Amino acid sequence: MMPIRYLTIHCAATIEGRDHKAAEVTRWDVARFGQPSYHWVVELDGSAVRTLADATRGAHVGGHNTGNIGICYVGGLGRDAKPKDTRTALQRKSLRELVESYRRKYPGLIVRGHRDWSPDLDRDGKIEPHEWVKACPCFDVATEL
Ligand SMILES: [Zn+2]
Repeated sequence: MMPIRYLTIHCAATIEGRDHKAAEVTRWDVARFGQPSYHWVVELDGSAVRTLADATRGAHVGGHNTGNIGICYVGGLGRDAKPKDTRTALQRKSLRELVESYRRKYPGLIVRGHRDWSPDLDRDGKIEPHEWVKACPCFDVATEL
């Protein structure tokens, strides 16, 4: 997993306002991919829950999981189930703090949204509905984080 060079932001592709917890998101990932996908899951109330050790390879960007920390916020779909930036104020704050702590720890860290990795998205078996791949995390990481 080392050295850590990248950090990638994701959304859980869950409906706006539904208070799914990190443990539930992790259960879905284990069922689909055989392991937790992300290193952190940020819940609606801003709680950042550690779901994988940094030294453990995640399963969140097809073909690009080595040295790549994955952070997922709960949400990412509007009530119409279309991609939407549903981050709560507390999630925004928490994401910013997490990213800053990794930037301090790993100078030169490259921070991206999942969609910024296109088109190499499903090479190692993580197949997501195409619309999510193109949208995830539903905001522009380069300008916001
Ligand atoms: Zn994603």
